[in-house]
Amino acid sequence: MSIEVKNVVKYYKEQAALNDVSFKINSGEIVGFLGPNGAGKSTMMKIITCFIPKSSGLVKVCGLDVDDNSIEVRRKVGYLPEHNPLYLDMYVKEYLGFVGGIYGIKNKNERVKEMVNLVGLEKEQHKKIGALSKGYRQRVGLAQAIIHEPEVLILDEPTSGLDPNQLVDIRQLILNIGKTKTVMLSTHIMQEVEAICDRVIIIKEGQIVADDTAKHIQQKDELKQTVLVEFDKEASRNQLKQITNVKSVKNVEGNKWIFMGEGDIRPHIAKFAQQHNYLILAMSTVEKSMEDVFKEMTGN
Ligand code: ADP
Ligand code: MG
Repeated sequence: MSIEVKNVVKYYKEQAALNDVSFKINSGEIVGFLGPNGAGKSTMMKIITCFIPKSSGLVKVCGLDVDDNSIEVRRKVGYLPEHNPLYLDMYVKEYLGFVGGIYGIKNKNERVKEMVNLVGLEKEQHKKIGALSKGYRQRVGLAQAIIHEPEVLILDEPTSGLDPNQLVDIRQLILNIGKTKTVMLSTHIMQEVEAICDRVIIIKEGQIVADDTAKHIQQKDELKQTVLVEFDKEASRNQLKQITNVKSVKNVEGNKWIFMGEGDIRPHIAKFAQQHNYLILAMSTVEKSMEDVFKEMTGN
């Protein structure tokens, strides 16, 4: 067992951020920790990484209690905090060497070189962190999280704020690193979980509301699809509602519409357009927020 969380409660003054949270993560798993803003994701991760104390309950990492063995736990855990705080004035290699020093790594320079190669920072390694794009800063953040060869990796919203290309790169990198580690990764995007994780733990208002395999959740998710379409000319809502398997239609603006339906409704929309002489200028599936998925899953 890599992470064991049992009946954890966390209060910030009178406010309960975590309310009796329990879950287990086995070694080698990549688990998505999914929840809307303010659900308690970062709080839970800070407790597991020994950054803040819990109010009550039990947390063990690799069998070690975080209260009694915080130094040992920190050695076993790599942590990429939310917003990835970095020293912008430091050079990439200088920073990684600095972090390596904190952990007392013996072959520090070699290890820094390894990290630079592993996360794909070769071209940027002589730059200041402040000069890097957000995607490359995340690579530095990942490198500092794994430089001491931790068994467990805790990543707090590692892809938030990245552009689509950077997003794909960082997800791939996490998948690669995750082959040999236990990974817990927080996000508020369902698709992220589907792309990376074996299992999903959903948290809402400080309580766990679902704990299931990503595949199972994906199957439920596939039942419903949200598609954004732009036509070349005006359409009527009543007409669009007639399209096969479409359950609801909403106008965004002008000739842009959002369709919700069952299964893959894109072919039906395309067929409709062809039959009624519409041109489709754009069509894309919409990334669902955790809230949408949660509503679908719980049926309210
Ligand atoms: P998430 O990461 O899921 O967005 P957080 O763990 O950051 O959620 O926050 C959970 C709740 O705890 C929120 O209501 C937030 O406002 C509150 N909270 C987080 N950190 C603090 C803090 N240092 N002091 C007081 N309240 C906090
Ligand atoms: Mg957070």
